[in-house]
Amino acid sequence: MSEIDDLKDKLKTATQILRWELADMWGHVSCRTSRGTFLILPLRPPIEEGIPEDDVLEFDLEGNLLGGKRDLPEEIFFFTTGYKARKNVGAMIHCHPPVAVSLVSTGKKIVPIHQHSIKFGSKGVPTSPWLYGTFQEDGERAMKTMGESCALMIKGHGANVVGGSVQEACMNAVHVERTAKMLMWANGVGKPGPMPPAVVKKYALVEAERAKRRGARPPRSPEWNYYERMVKRGERWNVW
Ligand SMILES: [Zn+2]
Repeated sequence: MSEIDDLKDKLKTATQILRWELADMWGHVSCRTSRGTFLILPLRPPIEEGIPEDDVLEFDLEGNLLGGKRDLPEEIFFFTTGYKARKNVGAMIHCHPPVAVSLVSTGKKIVPIHQHSIKFGSKGVPTSPWLYGTFQEDGERAMKTMGESCALMIKGHGANVVGGSVQEACMNAVHVERTAKMLMWANGVGKPGPMPPAVVKKYALVEAERAKRRGARPPRSPEWNYYERMVKRGERWNVW
């Protein structure tokens, strides 16, 4: 399979995982290519008849369309500014996770309360005021607020999430929404206690050891593989 065909396949799977997990069809998944461009695919299936579900749009980093038949994304500047600002980012997602958006609307943050949210760091996911990616200055402000985090919550709107690969970015987006759900539950019972900074720091040693064992090989994602297998079989899973 060519690099582009492989990326298209991953993007299509990511849209299906996110549509199911977020119960929402708005937003886009994207990834960088080795030719200095990025591919982007709407979460929603094609509206027009006859366009395959994996027909991706290709843009350069200035936002010029290079190919593809799908309708153009309105929020392209979230992606162009993202890929320009973070050279190590291989994939980027903009989505509208409803529980996470609800949580930050109260002024609360998505903070790490379990191992899958440690990646958000001891300060949690940064939150910005309302921004819309159709404005370049909003894209730039989003990246400034996001810093080196793997996610940004945008009040009254959604989330921008990045990763080294489509697989990583997709699971990061899933974990943003799941952590928000867990925080909602915990807040209903009492005051959730985020993982202490010392624990976050210690867990980083586990990640560093995994990276050392992996060497030059790309990181594996058993979690992505689990969901991808079900998507390919046409199966779905319980969403909590
Ligand atoms: Zn949006």
